Amino acid sequence: MSHHLSPLLKQASRVCVDHGKGSWLFDVEGKAYLDFTSGIGVTSTGHCHPRVVAAAQEQAGKVIHAQYTTVSHEPMLQLSDRLAGRMPEGIDSVAFSNSGSEAVETAMRLARHATGRANIVVFNGGFHGRTLGAASLTTSGTKVRTGFHPLMAGVVVAPFPHAWRYGWSEEQTTEFCLNELDHILKTQSAPSDTAALLIEPVQGEYGYYPANASFMRGLAERCQKHGILLIADEVQAGYGRSGKFWSLEHFGVQPDVVVTAKGLASGFPLSAIGASAELMAKGMPGSQGGTYGANAVACAAALATLDVIEQEQLVENAAVRGQQMLGQLLSLQRDYPWIADIRGKGLMLGMEIAESPTRPLPDMAAKITAACEAEGLLLLRCGIDGQTVRFLPPLVVNEAEINDAMSRLSRALQKVA
Ligand code: PLP
Repeated sequence: MSHHLSPLLKQASRVCVDHGKGSWLFDVEGKAYLDFTSGIGVTSTGHCHPRVVAAAQEQAGKVIHAQYTTVSHEPMLQLSDRLAGRMPEGIDSVAFSNSGSEAVETAMRLARHATGRANIVVFNGGFHGRTLGAASLTTSGTKVRTGFHPLMAGVVVAPFPHAWRYGWSEEQTTEFCLNELDHILKTQSAPSDTAALLIEPVQGEYGYYPANASFMRGLAERCQKHGILLIADEVQAGYGRSGKFWSLEHFGVQPDVVVTAKGLASGFPLSAIGASAELMAKGMPGSQGGTYGANAVACAAALATLDVIEQEQLVENAAVRGQQMLGQLLSLQRDYPWIADIRGKGLMLGMEIAESPTRPLPDMAAKITAACEAEGLLLLRCGIDGQTVRFLPPLVVNEAEINDAMSRLSRALQKVA
């Protein structure tokens, strides 16, 4: 089954997939799985949406790759216009690369070059990628950092309002975190040395922790006061996954830079950062993109993806189906004392398997996802110890599929209890 895959990747090859349709994947033996992983939040329009398939096929017959510093092409130009039209206020310019990590690197290079300042303040629990720069900004766990030192210098970590972990109210946690940030800006990273605050407004890998409006406004105020850039990492939460087009819309805050990937192109590798043209122009020429950035087929797939998101009202669907799933998860929680918390926004929800915030039960969480897989429901785990079961269905998921998934989950929970 694993053939000659790296031993580190063998785990990933348990279910060998033959094809997919909508919310479903089918393995080579014909077994059907409800896919509530969406390729880690990527296939928002479902597997092989006919419009995305048609757009990619058509573009592949015209031109697959035409490097954008040599020539331009229509899918890239059109996509830059479409995305600029969907960006938060004041953001009218986009630059493309292939993955979330690359987009984070691009944003970081832009922030340092544009401000002439070295430091990036990140928030505890944030995940920003696996390349060495992005890994240096990541504190959601040890797997992308341990054994890879020295990491990039100039990264300063501030607390994120994980109210449940602190065991405090949201107000208390927010006040504590903003005070700590002020202290950091006085003692560890003076504003004149701080290029940007980089935040996942809804943390994904750490276990689906949304920030809150007063915390995010507090960050925006400090950025404005000190000329620091606010960078929103919307790689996982963007393009409707949180029940708003950008997750920052939950908090009423305008960022300077938006970093996006995953849900942009329905599975084709494509990422984009957005900033004002004025700010983008302060980057280093040649520091944005790369050989494959803005691949023509990926851009055509992204244009079709945006059409589907708009025409099938997937942002609204994510909000409504998210509420449905949240309600059902909360009612399951009542039956099991070790379901310690249910969190998230829209169709990015996490179920914390723990005795308490300091006593996680990762083995139990692993048993639950394995039992779900046997029931035909694919789920991932996240959280610092792997104790959070995560629910990431495609944004096209319908009411019956959520009910079906929750029944499978319920049977799996009964088996492991
Ligand atoms: N940022 C966030 C919030 C992510 O969730 C991820 C990936 O999970 C990344 C960045 C890195 O993206 P990629 O895996 O495409 O490099």
